[in-house]
Amino acid sequence: MWQAEVRVDLDAIRDNVAQLRAGTSAELMAVVKGDGYGHGMIPAARAALDAGADWLGVCTLDEALTLRRAGLDVPVLAWLLAPGLPLHEGVAAGVDLGAASLAQLDEMIEASRRAERPARLHLKIDTGLSRGGATTADWPELLDAAAKAQADGLVEVVGVWSHFVYADLPGHPTTDRQLAVFHEGLAMVERAGLRPRYRHLANSAATLTRPDTHFDLVRPGIAVYGLSPVAGERFGLRPAMTARARVMLTKRVPAETGVSYGHTYLTERETNLAVVPLGYADGVPRHASNVGPVQLGGRRRTIAGRVCMDQFVLDCGDDPVAAGDVVTLFGSGADGEPTADDWAEAVGTINYEIVTRFGGVRVPRGYD
Ligand code: PLP
Repeated sequence: MWQAEVRVDLDAIRDNVAQLRAGTSAELMAVVKGDGYGHGMIPAARAALDAGADWLGVCTLDEALTLRRAGLDVPVLAWLLAPGLPLHEGVAAGVDLGAASLAQLDEMIEASRRAERPARLHLKIDTGLSRGGATTADWPELLDAAAKAQADGLVEVVGVWSHFVYADLPGHPTTDRQLAVFHEGLAMVERAGLRPRYRHLANSAATLTRPDTHFDLVRPGIAVYGLSPVAGERFGLRPAMTARARVMLTKRVPAETGVSYGHTYLTERETNLAVVPLGYADGVPRHASNVGPVQLGGRRRTIAGRVCMDQFVLDCGDDPVAAGDVVTLFGSGADGEPTADDWAEAVGTINYEIVTRFGGVRVPRGYD
């Protein structure tokens, strides 16, 4: 018997990847960082590979090595690498590394020496996000240094890549500007004598809406998990995660009863309260206080009062609720339950954050 659980529908992940796969002639990297956006990195990765993903994308070296330890020996790219990491372990494990500066390149050359094999690098150009990636001013110098290291047999430049700012807003002019900068960056790559096999730029939104950005490889994340990166569009994707809990306790209380910390909710009349054993330690945002939607007894309800660390309360009126009844916070929406999109809208965030938060350690995660 479970008290609260997150269920992940691996068939949904497989269907989503198969759909993305069918929509492009490029190779496909399933992005499984952040514990597979809360869905479990290894099961999500396996499901994505079953459905035709060619690559796995992660942020950290640890995530990449965890994939290797799980026996996943497909191409893996790791791209968030602070100084001083044991990069040689990644190189030895055949993990591709994202490089965006001369300092990173130097570390990767050193890692290649230690691992006694050339690091496989993806050089990142900043086309406008001002996050990872070399600025266009620094790009030629990085290319020259990488070309020299490749000529010396120290590294292999496998990819050139960047990341979008506004792909979630189809038609935004910044996307075209970034694409133009990327093309200029690619021309410089050629002039530097580099011929990387993979040019890649497209996240989920661009994979779904901008085929002209697919190049040799697309890198969808959120769409793998069945959630749309574009507000108001579903793209026929199937949300994979359901979060639910069982009512722990019910009680009848009079009108004007204050509920939860700070009494931010007062009952209007005599009513049934249901106490649900899930809180912000489990991933329920505290901002869901008085706004978070759930489904209980076939009806949508809103959290009454503040979300606590471990529990929240529902005001069920005269509806007959009982301890043990199932409260669905979000799911695919197929049975009328709220979705991660509904939660994101209610609490003022994005669906990415909702599912990633629920991948925490306390709520057991099960797979269908
Ligand atoms: N590529 C990079 C570099 C990322 O950081 C991410 C995620 O943020 C993705 C691809 C996947 O993005 P999305 O989940 O929007 O598809």
